[in-house]
Amino acid sequence: MTNYTEFIKSQSSGQAPIDLNDKIVRPKRFSPLILNGHWLKDGNATLCNDGIKAIIYLNGDRIPSMISGGPLINDEYEFHNAHFHWGEDDCRGAEHTINGTWFSMECHMVHWNQKYLTFAECLKYRDGLCVLAYLFLVQSGCCNVKFEKISENLKYIQNAESEINIPADCLSWMRVATDCSYYYTYHGSYNVGNNPECVTWIIFPVIIPIQSCQVNEFRKLKDINGEFIKANWRDIQPLRGRQIFLALHFID
Ligand SMILES: [Zn+2]
Repeated sequence: MTNYTEFIKSQSSGQAPIDLNDKIVRPKRFSPLILNGHWLKDGNATLCNDGIKAIIYLNGDRIPSMISGGPLINDEYEFHNAHFHWGEDDCRGAEHTINGTWFSMECHMVHWNQKYLTFAECLKYRDGLCVLAYLFLVQSGCCNVKFEKISENLKYIQNAESEINIPADCLSWMRVATDCSYYYTYHGSYNVGNNPECVTWIIFPVIIPIQSCQVNEFRKLKDINGEFIKANWRDIQPLRGRQIFLALHFID
């Protein structure tokens, strides 16, 4: 070990993403996960290129999009942003893998715990954030019309630090994947800055089909140096003794 910082880094125990391996996940019953407001037509949405990724904010005259229940105990989490991870080709671009299988792209919907008052404060606490993760796979012949509200508008934000208003219900494609009987959940990191370990991760196993040309629109986005953002996914991190749960919706 060359220095203390490296040592501390090696001791950090709870990073994301991970491989969701069915051999080690443990089934667990939770109360129903409740999502509210994510796909409403009220207000508006902004699609931005922040120089690293494509990111969506929901704003305007709409109720806050909230999640609660499931592994979130008694806390309520408010939507902050949705962003995407992609790769150089369609084989790999998602961050999480399931039983070692790679997917083409991944969307993270970041929510922050209302009891901490500000987003920045949430980064200091283990239960600060909840991120919903959706996996996309390029499939020939598929037609993901709902996703066009995002993919068709990427051509307007090819330069870093540009943005455009898009339809308020641009996240409506998430509905089918969210409406499933189980999901994976574990504790991990928010991979911005020093990767604080403050996230309850929820990964939906319903793979969302997408067209190759839709993913390709993401690869046309540029960073602040004018270079194409070819890939922005992070490698699989060691589990280090953490438990992954297969959460079953509790149906009485
Ligand atoms: Zn992310």
